[in-house]
Amino acid sequence: METASFLDAHTHAQFPAYDADRESVLQRARDVGVKMINVGTQFSTSEAAIKLAERFPKEMWAAIGFHPAHAEDDDWHHDKNEQAEAEAEVFDVERLRKLAQHPKVVAIGECGLDYFREARERKPEVGEKQKNIFQAQIELAAELDKPLMIHCRNAFPDLIGILSSGSRLPASHSGIIHFFTGTPDDARALLDLGFSFTFGGVITFAQSYDEVIKLIPIDRILSETDAPYVAPVPYRGKRNEPAYVVEVVKRLAELKGVSTDEMKAQIWKNAVSAMPGLIQDPVFENE
Ligand SMILES: [Zn+2]
Repeated sequence: METASFLDAHTHAQFPAYDADRESVLQRARDVGVKMINVGTQFSTSEAAIKLAERFPKEMWAAIGFHPAHAEDDDWHHDKNEQAEAEAEVFDVERLRKLAQHPKVVAIGECGLDYFREARERKPEVGEKQKNIFQAQIELAAELDKPLMIHCRNAFPDLIGILSSGSRLPASHSGIIHFFTGTPDDARALLDLGFSFTFGGVITFAQSYDEVIKLIPIDRILSETDAPYVAPVPYRGKRNEPAYVVEVVKRLAELKGVSTDEMKAQIWKNAVSAMPGLIQDPVFENE
């Protein structure tokens, strides 16, 4: 079985990192047959993801959400790749709900828990705030019957605890754990909850993910770049971009013992079962 397209299931082509040359970046993706889901991290980047999907309806979809790194009020997380100017934002589920109803929105996120900064800066109250913001997005996803696009760093026990405790998610499409960094036991728990997993550039240069990729069934694995971050070999150290997802799919195929064509076809099957909004889109084509 062969399909023509690759899928970058979690990327950020709407970010200012591409303002100077976005059209060439998107053309390079098109040239190698890559379609993509652009993922928002707060209101402005979520709205921009939808606008891009409207411009390229056969190639792009959007996920909208509020990233846990933005949960701090006083020490505003600012990454110049993501925001040209630091943009403080109080989480507002009503604003997200309006965006979430757009037909190109196939998932809610990225949302989740990120304790990396919290541990470094000793601010445990931020964890509580992240949990509340995450919970509100879980409820939004359940209400709209859209899957979650989850970001989790150094927080898998809390994440699994929250997701296991009556979150009303449809088990058939609970969502996706983006850039999975948990243990094999975390993977088993999240598989039981119905989640799929995306892997990105890091698997092309680090062996530490091989075991978990071999453990996860092939029908629960997707490919991503998380561009502009963490480019795969042979582009390591450069700005990442969606076209490079091809390298990730090649590595996934090696680890799963299938051909690259089989892997990319499998990823589309996995994507439409994890995110049914893709096939509900009238212009959906994966050829
Ligand atoms: Zn991301």
